[in-house]
Amino acid sequence: MQTVTLNNGVEMPILGFGVFQIPDADTEKVVTDAIATGYRLLDTAVSYGNEEAVGHAIAASDVPREELFVTTKLWIQDSRDSSAEDATKRSFEASLQRLGLDYLDLYLIHQPFGDYYGEWRAMQDLHRQGLIRAIGVANFYPDRLVDLIEHNEITPAVNQIETHPLFQRADYQAQMAELGVQIQSWGPFAEGRNNLFTDPTLTAIANAHGKSVAQVVLRWLTERGVIAIPKSVRQERMAENFDIFGFTLTDEQLTAIAGLDTGASLFFDHRDPAMVRALSSRTYS
Ligand code: NAP
Repeated sequence: MQTVTLNNGVEMPILGFGVFQIPDADTEKVVTDAIATGYRLLDTAVSYGNEEAVGHAIAASDVPREELFVTTKLWIQDSRDSSAEDATKRSFEASLQRLGLDYLDLYLIHQPFGDYYGEWRAMQDLHRQGLIRAIGVANFYPDRLVDLIEHNEITPAVNQIETHPLFQRADYQAQMAELGVQIQSWGPFAEGRNNLFTDPTLTAIANAHGKSVAQVVLRWLTERGVIAIPKSVRQERMAENFDIFGFTLTDEQLTAIAGLDTGASLFFDHRDPAMVRALSSRTYS
């Protein structure tokens, strides 16, 4: 598997498997299938409610731990009654226990809300103790990312953000590259919104290569150096989404895909006050 080198020298697979919205009861089987397909990067989160099932699949697999790259994410901590540092360390320990692991490869702040400075300080400590190989963030817009970098010791290794053909983030990717922050796509297919899988431009490119739209999208992301973590509960799609390295998009095809960018989220804007309130009101521990 092709890897990218993060800003602290850690190698991360460019293609992995995401488990958002996979019901807890199905997750162990689905992740077992994903590992058997060849996926080594697994992406979960406290808020997905399936860390334990991911852990069961890891424990049952005969793939050595050091060959896997496991990511989970810290939800927004309630820092009114205890410090965000303490709350983060407790949440980290609980995630590690549910996953049945003694270290994480990547730990992300899931949302840029609440006392994420305190959370980041705790994550820096856990990283220094060797309990996390790399620390990063998700859903950080440029101003918050730069502010976090300016006021802390460790620059996030990764920023996991919505990135797909309809919201391409090319300028932000370039900005992040200058800062030493690796872009990772969430929602590489935009969860199929706006008829992405039947988009005429992507379909024509897919037909030209004898590939599927999903494969073209993942090829396009990884050719751009964007880490992708597609989700599927179906084994044949897992295999399809994993088989993306045997073809190359032409300049003309890249230009056609660039024309699909709407420059806006297909989900919601993390800077929308109503969303800040809605996400902040959710608790997961
Ligand atoms: P996604 O990967 O863009 O899309 C998943 C959808 O596409 C599912 O409905 C899946 O259906 C379908 N699909 C998968 N492969 C397909 C194929 N080859 N052909 C046709 N349909 C296909 O959506 P996502 O799960 O939201 O994003 C991926 C991962 O990113 C998540 O699992 C999670 O790990 C991460 N994520 C992070 C955040 C964040 O805030 N940091 C937010 C969202 C997601 P089936 O399952 O039925 O195949």
